[in-house]
Amino acid sequence: MDDDLRERVRTAAERHALFNALKHGSDPDVGAIMGPLMGENPEFREHGDEIPGVVAPVASEVSGMGAEERRDRLGELAPDLLAELDADDEEEDDALPDLPNADEYDEIRMRLAPNPNGPWHLGNARMPSVIGTYKQQYDGWMLCRFDDTDPETKRPDLDAYDAILDAVDYLGFEPDEVVRASDRMETYYDHARELIDEGGAYTCSCPAEEFRSMKADAEACPHRDKPAETVREEFDAMVDGDYESGEMVLRVKTDIEHKNPALRDFVAFRMVDTPHPREEASDYRAWPMLDFQSGVDDHLTGITHIIRGIDLQDSAKRQRFVYDYFGWEYPEVLHWGHVQIDAYDVAMSTSTIKAEIADGELTGWDDPRAPTLASVRRRGIRGEAVVESMVELGVSTTNVDLAMSSVYANNRELVDDGADRRFLVRNGELLPVAGDDRPDAGHPPLHPNHDDRGDRDIPVDDAVRLEPDDVPADGERVWLKGYGCLRYEAASENADAADGDGGAGGELVWTGDDISAVREDGVPVVHWVPAEENVRVRLRTMDGDVFGRAEPGFASYEPDDVVQFERVGFARYDGTDDGVTVAYYAHP
Ligand SMILES: [Zn+2]
Repeated sequence: MDDDLRERVRTAAERHALFNALKHGSDPDVGAIMGPLMGENPEFREHGDEIPGVVAPVASEVSGMGAEERRDRLGELAPDLLAELDADDEEEDDALPDLPNADEYDEIRMRLAPNPNGPWHLGNARMPSVIGTYKQQYDGWMLCRFDDTDPETKRPDLDAYDAILDAVDYLGFEPDEVVRASDRMETYYDHARELIDEGGAYTCSCPAEEFRSMKADAEACPHRDKPAETVREEFDAMVDGDYESGEMVLRVKTDIEHKNPALRDFVAFRMVDTPHPREEASDYRAWPMLDFQSGVDDHLTGITHIIRGIDLQDSAKRQRFVYDYFGWEYPEVLHWGHVQIDAYDVAMSTSTIKAEIADGELTGWDDPRAPTLASVRRRGIRGEAVVESMVELGVSTTNVDLAMSSVYANNRELVDDGADRRFLVRNGELLPVAGDDRPDAGHPPLHPNHDDRGDRDIPVDDAVRLEPDDVPADGERVWLKGYGCLRYEAASENADAADGDGGAGGELVWTGDDISAVREDGVPVVHWVPAEENVRVRLRTMDGDVFGRAEPGFASYEPDDVVQFERVGFARYDGTDDGVTVAYYAHP
């Protein structure tokens, strides 16, 4: 390496070292600098052995600098990189606004309040992503409260409790406490009785239709002015299960003439005949409505900030009546719009996904075609990538679209460096390979930016498989990556292929050309696998299963390992099933 090149390596390394150190707030690492350095500067690669010797002193020099000094130096060397860094910071700051009145609370306390009526779809990831990020930002407290007080219409799914906690863990967060509302029924009953004693609630046996029309006319029903004692007796009879569904409800007394009819004397408790699926809760028949239950719980667990959908604005208004009776302070509320998602044919709805699984349309919650957290996880997409995309959506009241491409971009950044490169040939065509002086194996690198990880060893016996689109026209050349240059000769020109062995009817003949054939003549570089020594793969994708064959080294992975199938995309190794290796496609 001459002095000029050494200086160029030094400068490029210093830029990377400064940028990474500032971006991650840590000291630079030689390994982390080498990858991008070699990736961006192919001319350095032939000096691969000497480069670390130049990079190491640069890294320790940058380690010795403070943050200010690093910024100044990066500003001198590469003002554009410094600007990029500042732009990134700004973007991150903008995504999540400060919580309202945060400094008025000793501790920021927020809650996830999932209904465990099914495992989570992708949209459900927004709440834990944002609340978990706020928890980190404010060093706050996070509750996971299962709002499972509807045994009938949104009936809890017993497997969903654990599935949801798993999903929170996958996203990288841990609740400080986990509770189930169905364990807290006595608490809700106690508060109902207190509310009755305050004159804030009454039992009502009006048929729902009749009450609705009275309510619409701002007219009180005959039960509204019952003495508290009678209300107490009737409520206790509700708790004892003496009524059937529809016979009796407990209403919160609000303002029967309120300009918003949805707030007029709403139901706090109703009878449900269907037993709760949890055995511990299966004897209860008088169930609180969500607004009553969650309102009481938010106060009792000291929640300071609530985030909920803009369509639930009436919830806060209803709950405020209850809070006023009890003399409680209502938490801060942020409302946000819906999140929609592109890229899926299956609707992002728990009931739809559940129905498609029941019908056998989907193989389960982790079917790659299902817009669920279990499915993206199985595809090898990290929770962190989902969280980043969700946080980028912010918390505005308008509806937002989650582009899966943003999740993919975030994930690519996370997995690319660690993912081995491998070949997978889909619907391969078998082509005999001829030529006496050809090598007996190909040796593409395991990772283009990490020479130190070594090369793969892919044997070439008598034939290879190529994807149909990669088979060249008669007489044209193709470069088998890591192996070399071959010319395609169609069947009519060689008798050997006529025996039906070759799917394409021709053969590939070794040319011995060097890599300049690619650079100068534009010979296409393609992936390939040996005809015999390969691994049969079922690649599960969002568009259904795809079958192919991978290079032999693909058999060596463990479940959860992520590889990049070159020219195909990233995939997660899942395991073997009936002699076939199963992989899940992540993204390009
Ligand atoms: Zn009534």
